[in-house]
Amino acid sequence: MLITLKNRTLRLRSPMVTAHGTTTDRRIIEITAKQDGFVGYGEAAPLPSFGAETFEETQTALTEWSKNPDSLPDPPVARSGAAAALDHLHQSKSQTPLQPGAVAVQALIGGLETASVERQISDAINDGYRAVKLKVAATDTASDIERIDLAISLSESQVLLRLDANGGWTKRQALAVLTSVEASRIALVEEPTSDPSNWGKIKEETGIRVAADEHLTDRQQIDRLIELEAAQTFVIKPSILGGPPATRVIAALAATNDIDIVISSFLDGPIALRTARDLALELAPEQIHGLGTAPLFVEDLPQDVQPINGHLHRL
Ligand SMILES: [Mg+2]
Repeated sequence: MLITLKNRTLRLRSPMVTAHGTTTDRRIIEITAKQDGFVGYGEAAPLPSFGAETFEETQTALTEWSKNPDSLPDPPVARSGAAAALDHLHQSKSQTPLQPGAVAVQALIGGLETASVERQISDAINDGYRAVKLKVAATDTASDIERIDLAISLSESQVLLRLDANGGWTKRQALAVLTSVEASRIALVEEPTSDPSNWGKIKEETGIRVAADEHLTDRQQIDRLIELEAAQTFVIKPSILGGPPATRVIAALAATNDIDIVISSFLDGPIALRTARDLALELAPEQIHGLGTAPLFVEDLPQDVQPINGHLHRL
């Protein structure tokens, strides 16, 4: 097997501000695995503020792996990219092409200024999105309440409003914000606090479904979430959780425990978006996924990872 690696950088149109910090661009390693005339593609793009390895660690691990592809790299982002390339190579070799299909995606609303939030939500609705996700807990609770109220007033009742706190609220802040807004209009809140043991209370007091994202790091954490009954939805990011094989394992665990899944991008480039889109079509074709991130980049990403009418299409 011949593995080649190529670096590229994608720039975000406006900085993405979350409780973990601000992201302005994404450094990406594109992976090509060739064998017997077949090709598989993967991608690795660490975002260390989200608990992943550094770019240099990813690069070193992938370079080592390229010399000995039988044993997957250890760092999670490198591992996920390598696993994705091998899974895609396996799919190519099977010579059964994946059928065309479409999967619904949400619009991710970044930025903090009211005018920008207002414009992004209106654009998303006009562009046919059925769900928008608002980042919260990056500033103060008063501005969170203001932006959530604005999002509720802008989105018609058929558009789902999702929130993502990235663990940035305390339990008191989460309850203060979520009991001040029209909770029935909020479809879910991701990682309201950094401690899943108080998510049950948040669900109970507000009625809002809680989703786990950053806490889905390893099997032990996932088992704990299930035991606590902390989350009603798992937001699975294939590009950090181990690629397609690990995603399938977590999806099966979720199904067994009556937990919904949403497949999500990690502000990924085109190859990882494609991997995630195909997993969304395979594992939860009726769900609205977190894969509408291509328009956030300055660079034009390929058509098949660009949301059209709020959907990604496999051609
Ligand atoms: Mg999240």
